[in-house]
Amino acid sequence: MQLLDGKLTSNTLKDEIAVEVSAMLASGGKKPHLAAILVGSDGASETYVNAKVKACEKVGFDSTLVRLEADVSEEILLNEVRKINENPAIDGLIVQLPLPKHISEIKVTETIIPEKDVDGFHPVNLGRMMLNLPSFLPATPAGILELLDRYDIETSGKHCVVIGRSHIVGSPMSILMARNTKVGNCTVTLTHSRTTNLKEISRSADILIVALGKPEFVTEDMVKEGAVVVDVGITRVKSDKTKSGWKLKGDVAFDEVAPKCSFITPVPGGVGPMTIASLLKNTLKSAKQS
Ligand code: NAD
Repeated sequence: MQLLDGKLTSNTLKDEIAVEVSAMLASGGKKPHLAAILVGSDGASETYVNAKVKACEKVGFDSTLVRLEADVSEEILLNEVRKINENPAIDGLIVQLPLPKHISEIKVTETIIPEKDVDGFHPVNLGRMMLNLPSFLPATPAGILELLDRYDIETSGKHCVVIGRSHIVGSPMSILMARNTKVGNCTVTLTHSRTTNLKEISRSADILIVALGKPEFVTEDMVKEGAVVVDVGITRVKSDKTKSGWKLKGDVAFDEVAPKCSFITPVPGGVGPMTIASLLKNTLKSAKQS
């Protein structure tokens, strides 16, 4: 069994991005600039946004964090998005999800112009992804592709099973793994909460990508010997063994599943850091295009 080390790989990627930023500055260009909007003060969202801002600093990007109260109106949030859309100094914008219930996530996503949608959630970017046209790929699936690529995982002709059909992870992941691209060309099965024979399907996966948000859901008996397992799940669970009183758990029961795998991502240190690196990569691409 070999670890798909997202922390190490993302650090390599960040070093590569930092070199490109230095070259851009040396040739008279400006620093790439990522803006993030955070609504409310949910603990997990704070952690993710802070990690993104810190990653920007590390690679030499500018960053702006706009904080809005949890009870902010949808219109005020949309106006903040429009202001950033029109600001030529900013190359990429992310609005940290989830948003409070009174705000329509799809309305917010559709208000971000596709040229600055570095999370790759806008319908235009998702449509272009479907057609295999240049676009911003959703950051988490793109990070997984990059990780599989950097570890030279053979995907062509393999059976890839994706668990979870969310718009930000499972659904785009299933499309990307089926595309005619270097990491792709899989036969894909997309499973979800209404799938009746999940164990039977997951056991036939050469590549199993798990994104459902239920800690340690995938057990040893659901995985084929020699499979490549990618664990997207991140759930904070209470723990008396850590100083903070919390521990991050993936969707895969790592200790029992890992010995069966050829490759597996850990949690933390797997898909999470790759998501941030992809976001930086998309922002760099946007800065080069503008
Ligand atoms: P979501 O809640 O939007 O979707 C969950 C999906 O799981 C749904 O499509 C549902 O049909 C499916 N599902 C639920 N129960 C199931 C079952 N018993 N069997 C099969 N499928 C089932 O989730 P999401 O936004 O895709 O996030 C999933 C997990 O990934 C969460 O833990 C989230 O925190 C994590 N996540 C991590 C990253 C990262 O960078 N590592 C990024 C995004 C999400």
